Amino acid sequence: MSPLSRTFVDAHWAFQRYQQVRARLPRAGRPGKAEHRADLSEVSERFDVFVFDSFGVLNVGGAPIEGAARRIASLRALGKEVMVLTNAARDPLASLPAKYAGLGFDFTAPEIISSRGVLARHLKRRDIEGPWWIVAPESSEIAEFDVAALHTEPPEGAGGIVLLSATTISDPLMDELATALTTRPVPLLVGNPDLVAPREEGFSLEPGAYAHQLADSIGAAPEFFGKPFANAFDAVIERLAGRARRERIAMVGDTLHTDILGGSAAGFGTVLVSDHGVLQGVDIPAAMEESGIFPDYIVPHI
Ligand SMILES: [Mg+2]
Repeated sequence: MSPLSRTFVDAHWAFQRYQQVRARLPRAGRPGKAEHRADLSEVSERFDVFVFDSFGVLNVGGAPIEGAARRIASLRALGKEVMVLTNAARDPLASLPAKYAGLGFDFTAPEIISSRGVLARHLKRRDIEGPWWIVAPESSEIAEFDVAALHTEPPEGAGGIVLLSATTISDPLMDELATALTTRPVPLLVGNPDLVAPREEGFSLEPGAYAHQLADSIGAAPEFFGKPFANAFDAVIERLAGRARRERIAMVGDTLHTDILGGSAAGFGTVLVSDHGVLQGVDIPAAMEESGIFPDYIVPHI
């Protein structure tokens, strides 16, 4: 398998790679008009609920984006509901409100939905046979899943594999995963479908990138949990318990192939944030044309 870890990753690479794996992503909903607005205050009338992606919208790596916390406060003051829908899977669910508080945001636990939580619910309901291998660092506290079958060290004859975090993935580990999945085709679950995440120092590769690599190289069939897949947006609907219709919910994100594709497929309104995330330096009109993914609105920042 060609080593992904040495691939030079930038916004262009991420866009093209998302295009290559489109067959494994949901189909986009109706295209939006991609109308430019200065910020979310200009679309607040249209929506009752604002669902925020995290990386590239609220924060870049460990740093908050200037003005984001003020926008959250002003939307709350208008009586809007605000939520976070993030594909970050490494951090324990219990740690998330404190993590956002550390960035200057006041999201409560019920306002935060992570792909980790979507995966956790699935694992609780799934019939798991034998020990499963979960690829995650120590800090990920997998005991929180409360699923006894999960082991961070590859167990003998794993009955399934979960890619939760990419921080421990290396070329030798990818070879080990490929060997395990070829020897015994078992379910491959992915707790973060993203290909990349914007960090202060550039882009990191995320579990989705490795899962698609395994799908391409050995024909693995990953099951994804998180955006752009319906399970993430269903979690929002469930959390809202009927308080808003889908078209009155805005998915606000920086990635055409996760936030906007998934939001439109779920019947939500969509707002693309252009200046801080994975589309920095990308020709956005050309990217929309090429992908056929058009948000309702485009704002430079929230
Ligand atoms: Mg993002």
